[in-house]
Amino acid sequence: MLQKENTVGLYLHVPFCVAKCRYCDFYSAAAPREVMSRYAKVLAKELESRAPLARGLTVDTVYIGGGTPTLLAPADIAHLLDTARQHYTLDPAPEVTVECNPQSFKAGSFEALLGAGVNRLSIGLQSSNDRELLALGRPHDMAAFVSTYRAAREAGFQNINVDIMFGIPHQTRESLACTLQTVLAYAPEHISAYGLRVEKGTPFWQERHTLPIADEDTVADMQLTVAHVLGSAGYEHYEVSNYAREGYRSRHNMRYWLGKPYLGFGPAAHSFFDGVRYEAPCDTGGYVRAVEEGNFSALQLNAHRITPHEAMEEYVMLRMRLFEGIEEKDFSARFGISFEEVYGNVENLIRGGLLVKKAGRIAFTEQGMYVSNAILSEWLDFKP
Ligand code: SF4
Repeated sequence: MLQKENTVGLYLHVPFCVAKCRYCDFYSAAAPREVMSRYAKVLAKELESRAPLARGLTVDTVYIGGGTPTLLAPADIAHLLDTARQHYTLDPAPEVTVECNPQSFKAGSFEALLGAGVNRLSIGLQSSNDRELLALGRPHDMAAFVSTYRAAREAGFQNINVDIMFGIPHQTRESLACTLQTVLAYAPEHISAYGLRVEKGTPFWQERHTLPIADEDTVADMQLTVAHVLGSAGYEHYEVSNYAREGYRSRHNMRYWLGKPYLGFGPAAHSFFDGVRYEAPCDTGGYVRAVEEGNFSALQLNAHRITPHEAMEEYVMLRMRLFEGIEEKDFSARFGISFEEVYGNVENLIRGGLLVKKAGRIAFTEQGMYVSNAILSEWLDFKP
């Protein structure tokens, strides 16, 4: 008998950035301070108004992402967290993450964030090489990262993630190795390493044929280098793009990969709650109007109750991103059928070194993880 989920995570989207990075397709834009401040109040109102949904559930993770949430005044972030404490049942030790970009740091902000209950920072660095940062259109240089990181540590943050990227313009194996060594010297608790994706609608998409980026094989090699260097430095490679010191996995992101419920607030925020997935429109003006009018149904675009078949496919697609993979017993208990009855014999993949079966679990090996999209699309009806 599977246990009923009694926790929920909250995701709060802050759709503001000082400028748009050249590769970014997240929903964010520049805005004047008064607009951001008004937005924070509306976001708090949405948080309060939808709180009855989470009655009986404990909030054990809060994630304020964006955009650049640290463009909000610390007092606005404190108000959002106070609203969550007032209207939701918070776990006594919740993980509370705020994403932060180096250029948005202001003296004294980190002390205020800690005081507000934020206990995890996620800093977007991407590269330690200023030329690469410039090519990405990042609004900061390496020196800004260093002062931000030091200020966060001095303020008392003991749980910091640093985001890096590979496959970016001008990057070479050597410059990536330099970024990795530089980041390791700061000893963050967590590192996320994503490959650059050239998304439609971005300046990079326009320039895709002339972007000075490495070929596919070199980029695949870079990914293996990241895994090797961070693994040798004692980080657990627990998810395809995520590495953590022991005890520092991202609890909020684990929620996504384990298919646990979360409520998203703000434009473009996604929710998965009570078996239904939905998302708010990418329109800050429309969002503000909907919240002010109490028209929350306008914020539930593409609402879709996951069918049992989709639930099984999502389970496989999301959990196989984790190096701990799928527990065969849990799969059978949830879906009333064994993994291999559905997806066939996996002995070939095991013999080929792409999958491993251990202690009742099926998981990708490091090598298998890099071709996982091809394997998953053979297994699943929809493409990952
Ligand atoms: S800082 Fe992040 S969210 Fe903002 S434009 Fe750059 S990549 Fe996008």
